Amino acid sequence: MGIKIDPLKCIACMACELACGYHRDDAFALLSSCVVVYRTRERKDYFGVVLKEEDSLVIARPEGLEVKKIGAAEEDSGGGDASAKPMLLREACDLCEDRDDGPLCIQVCPVEAVYQD
Ligand code: SF4
Ligand code: SF4
Repeated sequence: MGIKIDPLKCIACMACELACGYHRDDAFALLSSCVVVYRTRERKDYFGVVLKEEDSLVIARPEGLEVKKIGAAEEDSGGGDASAKPMLLREACDLCEDRDDGPLCIQVCPVEAVYQD
């Protein structure tokens, strides 16, 4: 049961990204996060969320979800900033298995855009 993202609720606050980086590194290390907010330069007020899982990249865009199998997919963070650390090089989401309280990104999202069902 992985993390789910509702891109239509997301407000791009980046709290999940910060929290995941903190979970990974005990510091606010965005480059360690396996959940990332991306924007495009081409489209104003357009953003989504990308999640690195063990076998796939989940790309949650306003127009819908895309799941790219790692290995079959070439590097693509969903059209995001090319200066960001490539998602494929990041650790996969471990569902914060070492936390008694469960996924930190779910706890910090202010609009319940991250969830588990
Ligand atoms: S569940 Fe934990 S490891 Fe997975 S994206 Fe959320 S904060 Fe990161
Ligand atoms: S914490 Fe929630 S609202 Fe903020 S960027 Fe992450 S998914 Fe979007």
